[in-house]
Amino acid sequence: MVNITAYTLYSGSSGNCVYVKTPDTEILFDAGVSARAVEKGLNDVQSSLSHIQAIFVTHEHSDHIKGLEVISKKHHIPTHMVTASARALIRNPQASLLNDLYLHPSVFSVKFGNTTVRSFPTPHDSAASVGYTVEYEENGKTEKFGLATDIGHITEDIASSLIGSSAVVIEANHDVNMLFAGPYPYHLKLRILSEKGHLSNEDCAKFTKFLAENGTKHFVLAHLSKENNYAPIAENAVRGAISEFSEIRLAVASPDKPVLVGSDQPPEL
Ligand SMILES: [Zn+2]
Ligand SMILES: [Zn+2]
Repeated sequence: MVNITAYTLYSGSSGNCVYVKTPDTEILFDAGVSARAVEKGLNDVQSSLSHIQAIFVTHEHSDHIKGLEVISKKHHIPTHMVTASARALIRNPQASLLNDLYLHPSVFSVKFGNTTVRSFPTPHDSAASVGYTVEYEENGKTEKFGLATDIGHITEDIASSLIGSSAVVIEANHDVNMLFAGPYPYHLKLRILSEKGHLSNEDCAKFTKFLAENGTKHFVLAHLSKENNYAPIAENAVRGAISEFSEIRLAVASPDKPVLVGSDQPPEL
């Protein structure tokens, strides 16, 4: 990517946070680790919470919002969230009202100069759930970055929103065989496998191929399950599906280290 720089700072059930920088703005998607951890992740990529102009929340599950309240209180960063997610979050007695909260329907957009952030609905078992794209437009050319995790299955909305992205952070949550054989109770296995659960490596691989056919060059596999996946297994599943395409960079997001979108260095997990 030329004008958009993106890193997954944290990824997985222990917390999610994605950092995106364009010539106009620096923003975060989710703040699912402590405020201190978010600041550390940002420092590792030469940024800081004091640079962040907005936080966009995908949904209200704790692995996506854990640091939000402290960050909101300390830093007064405008936070954009779907109304139903905010209602579910604020009903939780642990969470007091967030400052600088902007409530939206599940399809909304926010502009920062030539940069446009757009949401799209995703199928997940929270009060509401969205993915995002970031588009940077210059001289009639648009560069697009997309983010979709916590998705039970690929929908028309997801496909039509992410198509044409240069780079995509996409969920590869579990290997179906590992999930079946693994330690999770039966009801939790069913929840993960459901249409509103999490995306398997196999479904991720199929969708990655579709995006590669339509020009996406950079992929980061994200939100890997600690119990039911392993980075090389996820990576192999996707590499197999996109092996016919040249110049594709594929990386796996780390639970606790920044991974540059557009790097092909798998992290040491
Ligand atoms: Zn979730
Ligand atoms: Zn999650």
